Amino acid sequence: MLNIQSKLPGVNTTIFSVMSKLASEYNAINLSQGFPDYACDPNLTELVSKAMKDGYNQYAPMPGNIFLKEAIAEKVNKIYNINYNPDTEITVTAGGTQAIFTALTAIINPGDEVIIFEPAYDCYAPTVKLLGGLVKTYELSPPNYGIDWDMVKKLFSANTRMIILNSPQNPTGSILSSQDMESLIKLIRGTDILILSDEVYEHLIFDGETHLSVMRYPELRERSFVVASFGKLLHATGWKLGYCLAPEDLTKEFRKVHQFNVFSVNSPMQQAIAEYIKEPEHYNGIAAFFQEKRNYFSSLLQKSRFKLLPCKGSYFQCASYDQISNEKDTEFCIRLVKEFGVAAIPVSAFYQKNTDHKIIRFCFAKENSTLASAAEKLINV
Ligand code: PMP
Ligand code: GLN
Repeated sequence: MLNIQSKLPGVNTTIFSVMSKLASEYNAINLSQGFPDYACDPNLTELVSKAMKDGYNQYAPMPGNIFLKEAIAEKVNKIYNINYNPDTEITVTAGGTQAIFTALTAIINPGDEVIIFEPAYDCYAPTVKLLGGLVKTYELSPPNYGIDWDMVKKLFSANTRMIILNSPQNPTGSILSSQDMESLIKLIRGTDILILSDEVYEHLIFDGETHLSVMRYPELRERSFVVASFGKLLHATGWKLGYCLAPEDLTKEFRKVHQFNVFSVNSPMQQAIAEYIKEPEHYNGIAAFFQEKRNYFSSLLQKSRFKLLPCKGSYFQCASYDQISNEKDTEFCIRLVKEFGVAAIPVSAFYQKNTDHKIIRFCFAKENSTLASAAEKLINV
């Protein structure tokens, strides 16, 4: 036997792979891993074929296709009224995950501390640990998962290097308010703390709320890596394309890593997306589209014994099953697949300590017929 020193000894296969595999083994309706079960726009796939036929089949430039970077700059300007320079401040990545990995790798040195709000998307903490960084966790509690910024301050030390934000948040569907942003600004003023702002659900925000990107606040923008994903924007999670926005000095460091991490990403799709996102109608309706799905799914579940938590954004609905069972959420989710034919994600998977509030997460980025079939099963639980 070879003696391999694991760099992540406590880490197993991600919950998304585990639950999707279980769903497929038991032929269950898969509301676990977050991805749509309907096709993306055929006009978009047409543009990809066209780009391939037009010869976009060799390496794209390292930081990204210039037309795409310009289209991103234009879109960001239209929505947030902020200018990012396509040459020096925008990098196209292989999805949000790679952007997160690259930003952390570019910044985190052994011993650096990173503040993470849990429940948190599962790649943050392992990546920080791989780099020798220390995760400083702030565990948020249901039903609102609000942040007490005085508690955040208590996590600060001379080694605090970064804070990771995620709004709208996966898995809770909570969003940061303007008071949150003001408190954050006060806390980091005068420090060298950087921000990694995971905004992959920027367009998935409901009930007329505004997405408060860090980009809107100059004091935050100047110290932030902003991560976006075309998977969410275009209903094409399998394309694994996204981007990172950051001021020039941060982008310089980001690209030093990016060039050795992937060098460049899928060329024909970049060309196609550049063309596609020039039309704001290709993304303006997303919030309304998903809000309708959230409302539909939650109306169906009113007849069930699940208690639904607030969902202000993202494509996830969290639900408490504490009136149904006191099993661990992981066990409950396995039983839900095997006995009832519906797969969900146990929210304890998003806490490093596996904190179990008896809450599970459903993805509602599905055909209404899928949501209806799932709800029919869930009302029997
Ligand atoms: N951040 C969050 C909060 C996510 O939910 C996801 C998964 N969709 C990602 C990052 C990764 O995005 P991508 O699939 O583009 O890598
Ligand atoms: N972001 C998706 C989710 O939260 C899944 C991404 C993945 O499978 N890594 O379900």
